[in-house]
Amino acid sequence: MVDCILCKGVEGDAELGRVQVWEDPLWRLTAVLEGEVAGFSYLEPKRHIPYVTDLAGEEARTLGRVLARTSRALRDATDSEVVYVYVFGDGIPHLHFHLAPHRKGDPLNEQMIRGEVVEKPLPSGATSVVSRDFPPLPRSEHHRVRERLQQILSTNSRGTKGQGLGSERTGRRPLRGGRRSPQ
Ligand SMILES: [Zn+2]
Repeated sequence: MVDCILCKGVEGDAELGRVQVWEDPLWRLTAVLEGEVAGFSYLEPKRHIPYVTDLAGEEARTLGRVLARTSRALRDATDSEVVYVYVFGDGIPHLHFHLAPHRKGDPLNEQMIRGEVVEKPLPSGATSVVSRDFPPLPRSEHHRVRERLQQILSTNSRGTKGQGLGSERTGRRPLRGGRRSPQ
């Protein structure tokens, strides 16, 4: 048996400073009762699935619906503008999605890359973000990884040809949407 705090379910919640607010047969959502952001929540499968890369079965099939429902509820409950979703994987090795309701001026930031960032607006209204402390890699390195990724995805785990992921994207750095869809 794995000795895992998240596998303890509600038994482990007190230690983590959180309380369960919703569950279904496969998933549960807990919300923190301490910290800087009211409503900061965790969505996790009840089954011990270590990493997002291990997602399979019913949890893989239901994730989209559950993630949409819980993050929408969190947005409405906190009157936030957006809900940030983070998955790390180098902390507790039991998959959990951090759901963070975010409003302008709160303690959360939008930074994915360490160091001082420089924002460059793009014509579309999105923003390209680069870090002064980590200069962009050579274009060839991006292409090397992009080619490998496409190659792996073109043959999926069942050994059949994949569908691809739609039109090819440019090798842009992390983008931040500058526009929100109405609603
Ligand atoms: Zn676990």
